[in-house]
Amino acid sequence: MRLVIKGNSKMGPHVGIFNLPARRTCRPSEWCLKGRRGNPACYALRNNFMLLSVRRSADRRFDASRQASFASDMIDEIKGKWEYFRVHSSGDFYNSEYVQKWVEIVKACRGTLFRTSTRRVDLIDDLRVLHKLPNMIVRESLDPTIPKPRTRFPVAALSGVELTKAKMDRMLFCLNDCVGCDYGCWKEPLNIMFEPH
Ligand code: SF4
Repeated sequence: MRLVIKGNSKMGPHVGIFNLPARRTCRPSEWCLKGRRGNPACYALRNNFMLLSVRRSADRRFDASRQASFASDMIDEIKGKWEYFRVHSSGDFYNSEYVQKWVEIVKACRGTLFRTSTRRVDLIDDLRVLHKLPNMIVRESLDPTIPKPRTRFPVAALSGVELTKAKMDRMLFCLNDCVGCDYGCWKEPLNIMFEPH
């Protein structure tokens, strides 16, 4: 099974993605679980992500991510093939060792720009190492139930979350059209604000 999937049409043809299962790897907020009139608001907890085939694929990727060969397998799939890479449309970093594997991958794939969003602030020390790499941007996810940043990372905030002027001064409003946006959030560590899908 290939580990990398291709981004959707709104992302354009040059974006690769690696997904993990939600819940097993992330720490969902109240908004994630109940923010849609008592039902899950996070898109990774509904819609296509709930299809059995999609859940099984994510579980297999989770298993792959725990293998000793994960970093080298991913480097084989990414290096020289993807211009932009989204780490986790679903799922999150689940332990320190897994973050360190991504440090190895990102270091080996200097020709690819990586980005990710996380709620795993408990892994801040490892994530800081990842974020410092010149071709990687880590953002902290904010939503109405976790509206205040707990890290100094740039943020990925749901529309309506109130942020400081300093954060708003460096804000990119997501158009959900990466080609039209010229891949702005991959190129600069700006804060981003987006509408719920
Ligand atoms: S901010 Fe721009 S580049 Fe980033 S996801 Fe949104 S549309 Fe795509």
